[in-house]
Amino acid sequence: MIGDKALVVFSGGQDSSTCLFWAKKHFAEVFAIAFNYGQRHKIELEAAKNIAKRAGVQLQIFKIDLLSQLTENALTSQQIEIEKEKPADRPPNTLVEGRNMLFLTYAAIFAKANGINHLVTGVGQADFSGYPDCRNDFILSLNQTLNLSMDIQYTIHTPLMWKNKAEIWQLADELGVFDLVRNETVTCYNGIKGAGCGECPACILRNRGLEMYLKTKNV
Ligand code: ZN
Repeated sequence: MIGDKALVVFSGGQDSSTCLFWAKKHFAEVFAIAFNYGQRHKIELEAAKNIAKRAGVQLQIFKIDLLSQLTENALTSQQIEIEKEKPADRPPNTLVEGRNMLFLTYAAIFAKANGINHLVTGVGQADFSGYPDCRNDFILSLNQTLNLSMDIQYTIHTPLMWKNKAEIWQLADELGVFDLVRNETVTCYNGIKGAGCGECPACILRNRGLEMYLKTKNV
């Protein structure tokens, strides 16, 4: 056990779902928070509700549509097509600028109000897609900033920080939720549950990791 209460920043995807069950193993009480920020596919939030319910975790969803008014990207705008290849000189256009910082900041405010000082997020830099706010340096820096801004000691846990997708599948398996994560989460940029469309960058990364993991498992 790491502590008594933890709040998981949750989206209903593979990574945050694995984190939800990781948190259940390490904390006596687990809460989840999700955000409706104008993402294209409402199925993500439906998946989040379903998984939280199965995990027996209380989930609260908050609306922050300001984010999609401030900046445009392929995850919130129907007009922008999702890039298939990662550009060499900048992050892909699925980057929602500032998303992880805002989500963690809102989560920290909610956590303090509810007597929670452990935050859990599924960001990682092993399969680094070029998103600056998935990096460990950013998390360490934000952790310090949150502590200073609200004058309490938060700990941001990033159980997936150094894991590639195959290792994240392995963790789900070790936590006994391999099938649930495989079938019920939504990672696909086209909003298709489970294995997804198979063609978008999120599906390719997820399915490639799954193949790798299954290969090592069957050896
Ligand atoms: Zn897809």
